[in-house]
Amino acid sequence: CGVFGVIGPPDAASFVALGLHALQHRGQEAGGIITHEARTGFHAAHRFGLVRDNFTKASLIDSLPGSLGIGHVRYSTAGSKGGTQIRDVQPFFGEFTMGGAAIAHNGNITNANALRRELIERGSIFQSNSDSECIIHLMARSIQRTIPERMKDALRRVEGAFSIVAMTRTKLIGVRDALGVRPLVLGRLGDVWVLSSETCALDIIGAELVREVEPGEMVVIENGEVQSHRPFEARRPRFCIFEHVYFSRPDSILGGRSVYETRRAIGVELAKEAPVEADLVCAVPDSGTPAAIGFSQASGIPFAMGIIRNQYMGRTFIEPTEQIRNMGVRLKLNVNRALIRGKRVVLVDDSVVRGTTSLKIKEMILDAGAAEVHFRIASPPTAWPCFYGVDTPDRDKLLAANMTADEMRVHLGVDSIRFISLDGLYRAVGEAQGRDASEPQYCDACFSGDYPVRPTDMISAGRIR
Ligand code: 5GP
Ligand code: SF4
Ligand code: MG
Repeated sequence: CGVFGVIGPPDAASFVALGLHALQHRGQEAGGIITHEARTGFHAAHRFGLVRDNFTKASLIDSLPGSLGIGHVRYSTAGSKGGTQIRDVQPFFGEFTMGGAAIAHNGNITNANALRRELIERGSIFQSNSDSECIIHLMARSIQRTIPERMKDALRRVEGAFSIVAMTRTKLIGVRDALGVRPLVLGRLGDVWVLSSETCALDIIGAELVREVEPGEMVVIENGEVQSHRPFEARRPRFCIFEHVYFSRPDSILGGRSVYETRRAIGVELAKEAPVEADLVCAVPDSGTPAAIGFSQASGIPFAMGIIRNQYMGRTFIEPTEQIRNMGVRLKLNVNRALIRGKRVVLVDDSVVRGTTSLKIKEMILDAGAAEVHFRIASPPTAWPCFYGVDTPDRDKLLAANMTADEMRVHLGVDSIRFISLDGLYRAVGEAQGRDASEPQYCDACFSGDYPVRPTDMISAGRIR
């Protein structure tokens, strides 16, 4: 998901809508905005679909007055079995003795089921199926006298990954879990302060990056001032390495590094680790493009646009049903036949999850008359589900959990397939010595099975041991 918040401009909702539009790649299922105006109080709108189709000036923006606002774009994660309802769409709102508060959450609470059961037994009435709603109920039960203090209380009971943007009548609040698994940055445009999942949403409104909200930090912004709190026990951060590989936009800056540059470096590493003789390097666009450019630069094999992407399709993976996902590949990608015929092609993609994309692409590219197809993948084999906010399926559906690389080569019917090594990936994100196995610098659980936060609910449900 993507979260965004702003305090200070007369028309906060316009800023939030622009910010969410720049974060749309983080979730396309639904979006919501809550604002506050001193005279009229809180205002909210939640809609399915894209920000640009819903939050226009003529329709919703004018119904969201005020100079303080937060928003959320939703990407449904594994939990939403019966499909998302509009009441699952964030931000969520709660009324407390000291006034209202709204929160927008990116990440996943790994003990949400356990907390929900306990809260329901004690009288909480849940409105949604979302794990994030627990936070509101935990806040309601807190005996603290301010909303930031109640949030701290609540979040100390929550396990898992969270980057949260929240607001009261007068404050904009940002929090990251102690490991800082999901991103969150602080930006500013004159007197206006902004919180955003990624820096690309600061660019769209002309705000400058001040700094990241740090892992384990809560920032409270009021009257143009930023206060920093440290509600959680300090730990070595474990930022999601997959944000660098796929999830974030390539024009964002993560941990002081250009995402594009990291992806290009992954391609360079891949060319070193898994060289191959070929005529063309092609990307599976858009997510494979920067790594393909790096592969081409390091190998000297020319880069070409052998696969063309229909710009009017979103991210295929994010369509929740199997059937749509299968069609999705063809709706989104097509082979540039004239270029491919008779060529030995290196195809670079960011990751192989179920293998749906790779299988379809291989069919299309052999159909177009390619002489050879060599897959080069910009992440290690995805062999474990993510429980921290990225929607990966259970192990039985993950290709790499059930096949060796050589079995995948046979299954996909390609001439070769190679994945970047975990150490190679760490080098590409700037860790010259590779992965520190005793205390890894990132979360890489979907590749290593090394989960930095115990997935409590998944263990209880028997989905993992
Ligand atoms: P597959 O078709 O193998 O199931 O998924 C691989 C494709 O989906 C890749 O081209 C990649 O761009 C995208 N993708 C891969 N991993 C993930 C993920 O964990 N989350 C999301 N949202 N998309 C992914
Ligand atoms: Fe990121 Fe993978 Fe960790 Fe999930 S398991 S937070 S996708 S590195
Ligand atoms: Mg892709």
